[in-house]
Amino acid sequence: MSPSTEFLLRVREAFGSATAPLHEPVIGSLERQTVDQCLQTGFVSSVGSFVVEFENALTEVTGARHAVAMSSGTAALHLGLLLVGVQPSDEVLIPSATFVATANAVTYCGATPSFVDVEWATLGMAPESLLEWLERIAVAGESGPYNRITGNRIAACVPMHTFGHPADIEGIRQVLDRWGIPMVEDAAEALGSLRAQRHCGTFGQAGALSFNGNKIVTTGGGGALLTDDEDLASRARHLSTTAKIAHPWEYIHDQIGFNYRMPNLNAALGCAQLQRLEEMVASKRRLLEAYQDRLGGCGIGQIFSEPAHCRSNYWLQTFILDEGFENLRDEILTHASDTGLQLRPLWRPLHMLKPYSAAPSAALPVTEQLSRRVINLPSSASIS
Ligand SMILES: *Cc1c(COP(=O)(O)O)cnc(C)c1O
Repeated sequence: MSPSTEFLLRVREAFGSATAPLHEPVIGSLERQTVDQCLQTGFVSSVGSFVVEFENALTEVTGARHAVAMSSGTAALHLGLLLVGVQPSDEVLIPSATFVATANAVTYCGATPSFVDVEWATLGMAPESLLEWLERIAVAGESGPYNRITGNRIAACVPMHTFGHPADIEGIRQVLDRWGIPMVEDAAEALGSLRAQRHCGTFGQAGALSFNGNKIVTTGGGGALLTDDEDLASRARHLSTTAKIAHPWEYIHDQIGFNYRMPNLNAALGCAQLQRLEEMVASKRRLLEAYQDRLGGCGIGQIFSEPAHCRSNYWLQTFILDEGFENLRDEILTHASDTGLQLRPLWRPLHMLKPYSAAPSAALPVTEQLSRRVINLPSSASIS
């Protein structure tokens, strides 16, 4: 048997099914009941009690003081960046190994991403790469550090918790604090993930969650901004609801806002889904064990497991090909796709995408290796 055939056989045995999508939501009767209850109130859109209930449940789950529900994770990231002061022509430090939305949110502010490498231990931003990059480009200025090569201000940093594995936030923050750079976490994939007992998305000035259909908990589409800063939360609420001033009947908007508020109908689905979070994490951890069991001795690579002092939600299960086996990646992905198993590579690193190819960038050796060696496996939770 060829190594790729044997690998896929083992994946199928571990997952317990011959065909499988990469990730599908778990929707049960609680979800149907709650959505139906919302439909019966008639409040399906931007007014209604489920949005508030969902936000309260999020603060309970994450320990953040405030959660502002939004129409997507990208919207939450965009407002998070605006509210920590990112302005046109600024630069924002982000990993190149992330979903394109991280960079797009930066671009929506009129700013440019500045790419930093990731590390093997967490798959998230590498504090050493961040430090080296800042030491090479950053100079202290009146309104914060700026990039002496481009002349632009370095306004924020967005670490991302890859596939739900917490990034080394303490290491990253130590570097950022030296330069006074604000941190906004992209915790889109990390609901239910903890670092040193603390929830991802609560370490920076703000953090973004996503509830897209492929995430661990879904509202159909949606996101939330987490923060402990009351002023930031209230400005996020205002900006996400077209900056409308509360008034019994007048339409007064005091700045250019956004239509980023989560609809009540989506929040209703989210209220039901959030109750399953621990069940989902437990199911994903069982799946991890099954993969470790079946793929442990396969001889071409390893299943990635959570960094030390962390509890990962294992949103996506990741197999990393050993050095020397990179050439198997495309064969495995093609063969899987032809036979009904949805496996996926790492995102094409952002510095290799046309819209971001000219952005400033640190050396990215780990990102480039990961992009040749990562294979994500079917990861849906199954609830018995
Ligand atoms: C899903 C995701 C987002 C965007 O979330 P949406 O709700 O789809 O807008 C941002 N960053 C990362 C890393 C993601 O995985």
